[in-house]
Order: sequence, then C-alpha cells, then structure tokens
Amino acid sequence: MDLLEYQAKELFAQIGIPILPSQCINHPADLKGLKIPYPVVLKSQVRAGGRGKAGGVKFAENTIDAVAAAQAIVNLPIMGDYPDVILAEAKYNADRELYLAVVLDTHARRPVLLGSNKGGVDLDAVMEHMQVVVVDRSFSPFYARRLVLKMGLQGRLIQSVSQIIEKMYRLFVDKDLDVVEINPLGVSPDGSVMALDGKVTVNDEALSRHPDVMELLHQHAPGSVHAPGSIFDNNGDRARDEWHYRPQKPDRVKDLDFHLMDLEGTIGVLSNGTGLMMATLDLIYSSGGNPARCLEIAGDFQGGWLADQFCERIDRGLELVLDQDPVEVILVNLMSGLTPSDRIAETILKVLEQRSRSPAYDPIPIILRLVGDPLSPAIAERLAQFQITWIEDLEAAIKATLAPSKL
Ligand code: GDP
Ligand code: MN
Repeated sequence: MDLLEYQAKELFAQIGIPILPSQCINHPADLKGLKIPYPVVLKSQVRAGGRGKAGGVKFAENTIDAVAAAQAIVNLPIMGDYPDVILAEAKYNADRELYLAVVLDTHARRPVLLGSNKGGVDLDAVMEHMQVVVVDRSFSPFYARRLVLKMGLQGRLIQSVSQIIEKMYRLFVDKDLDVVEINPLGVSPDGSVMALDGKVTVNDEALSRHPDVMELLHQHAPGSVHAPGSIFDNNGDRARDEWHYRPQKPDRVKDLDFHLMDLEGTIGVLSNGTGLMMATLDLIYSSGGNPARCLEIAGDFQGGWLADQFCERIDRGLELVLDQDPVEVILVNLMSGLTPSDRIAETILKVLEQRSRSPAYDPIPIILRLVGDPLSPAIAERLAQFQITWIEDLEAAIKATLAPSKL
C-alpha cells in the first residue's frame, strides 16, 4: 500500500531525513492560521505520481493566493482521485534536484539502491541518468557511498547524500517497505539537501507487524469515499463537500490529543501510553485477534494525568470506542498511575449505566485489565451486571477478549 506524501514524510522525519516544515490542511479555514511562513507550496495529497505536471503542486505568496490555490487543487482530480488533504509546506530554494530510491528487486530478492543526478518531474531525464547498486550482502555505508560516486556527486554532497541513502535503507528494513523514494531531493545553492517529495510503499503482508505505520495510514483517513487504492467513485461533489465539511469526530479526538487508529477487525482497544498500546496490539495479533478501533488516551502529555482529568479521558475515550460500529468486544488495558483502580472502574460503570438507560442500548462485553492497585470487592461485584470482566493477567485478558470474538 502506498502512503500519502505527508505520511511518508512523517517516517522521514522520524529517521532523520531532512524535510521542510509543513502542515496538513483539512479545511480552507486552516490556511488563515497557517503556522509556516510564506511563500509556501501547496500539494495535493493523492497517491498518484505526476502531481506537479497535472497542476496539483502550486506555490503561494500570501493567504489570498493560498486559498485560491487550495480551491483549485481540491477540485482537480489526478488520475481520477481527489485529495482529502492538502499539504502546505515551506518553499525550498533548490537549484539542483536528485532522485534517490531503495526498492526491492523481486527477481533477485535483494534490495537495490537507485540514484539519478537528474531528479524531478521529467522522468525520461531521471531514467536516462539512473545508477543502480544491488545490495548483495549485508548492508554497509559502503553501498550508499558507491551509489553516490556512480551518480557523479562531488564535495560535501558525497557525505550528505550517502547519509540520506543510509537512512532510507534503515527505514526500508525497519518498516518492511517495498519502496522508499525521494524525488526530488533538492540541493540548495549552499549545498544542503532536502527531501521535497516522498513515496513509501508498505508491504501489505508485513503491515500487521508495524502498528505505527498502520496508525499513520489511519490517523487522518477520511470516510470511505477514497478508500486507498480504490478507483474514484465518480462522485466528485460528494468528495469536495467532504473536504469542506470534515466530520466532527476526528476534531474531537484532536482536541483531546487522543491517538486513534481504526483497523479492520472487531476488537476495540482502550489503553494509555504508546508502549502499552503497542504491546497490547502485538499480543492481540499474535493470538490471532483483529483489532478494530484502538484509542490511546494518554496523548503526548508526559507528566501523568491527575485522577479527575484521567477519568474524564477514560469517559470520552470509552464512548468513542463503544460508538464504533464493528466493535464486538472491548479490551480496556490501562496503567492506573496516579488514579486509584476503583475510580477507573467507577468511571467505566458510569458510562455504561448512562448508556443502559437508552432503549437502543446494546451491551458490548468489556475485558478490564488494570496495572495498579487491585479493585475493592464492592466495586468488582458491580462489574458483572454490565458484562465487564476484570482480569489482572494480561495474557489471560487477551484470551478472554478473543473468546467471544471468535464465536
Ligand atoms: P510529483 O510531481 O507528484 O512527483 O510531486 P512533487 O512533490 O515531486 O512536486 C513536483 C515538483 O515541484 C518537484 O519536482 C519540484 O521541482 C517542485 N517542488 C515541490 N516542492 C517544492 C519546494 O518546496 N520547493 C521548490 N523549489 N520546488 C518544489
Ligand atoms: Mn515527486
């Protein structure tokens, strides 16, 4: 599966490949509060290549230009696809463009490094100057250096471009990718380099091993109109309307700084801390389960939430997971930290009590696992009436979670 450019660039940033400051635009109003200084470049976030030639990449000097450019881009199909997101990025002053890629040679089953000292939108020129280095033994910086020399690069660029190739290779291996491509890598007059465009293709079979990449794929994913890889459904008006009227839920999630991931399965997961969420997902997958909506409620705040705030987050988070349609069972796996376990359980009970008053109430089994002090017997007793099973051991909790979903 291909990532969108802004998603690819997030992976670039994580591994230390230089990218420009940028901002995703979901709504024209976002352009008014743009945090990056003008001039900017606005780029259609569709999976097809050739956006530059098709008119999907536009430069803007001020807000008025930017709004007009964004309107044009959002109404422009590229290979039949309309963007749901536009990437606004600082403009880079490049006087040279290079092409770099790491791809899997499916015949040789070996990674191959590709480089051309004529990068950019003219693909014939790119191809004409393409250099190839097969990584036929275990990787070392030597391979990157060899490619750079074959490309004819000189001076400081030998070192700086080699380092970028090494990072691309690390990303390729770490995330089980089929393709990592930078076209163009801009070279500024002073010789510094910048990834101006990025393409990353994830190996679909390996995707389940990389929950962080899945989160990337799903975090801003809009409704089903432009499901990844789907042919555009010929409903342009609807697509444009969706761009203007974003659904409320993602905003609510953004306000609370939750990390939300909607996957294909039936198991809802509520957890706090990225590490605990990853460990929980790993265990669910390795036990043959399939997560649906996964919500990490700690957010980026490092300090540990006070009990009142934490309970509020549990309350809001649980509602979000309960409301997601394919969820048939929920695993709540929380580190209680500063909050007594009893208060966490009471919060969950309160949410369910309230919901149970609605005639449409459809109880969903919840498996509750808390890392912290044990529940008091009085609270524990009340859980059963709302189909909540409290299990202290994580593996046992996973087993119990999978039991009903396998029926
Ligand atoms: P593609 O046509 O889909 O590959 O889209 P790109 O992201 O590669 O953009 C097309 C072209 O626009 C690039 O090859 C660059 O020449 C140019 N471009 C994109 N971003 C920037 C930028 O920040 N600064 C400058 N100067 N050029 C850019
Ligand atoms: Mn490009």
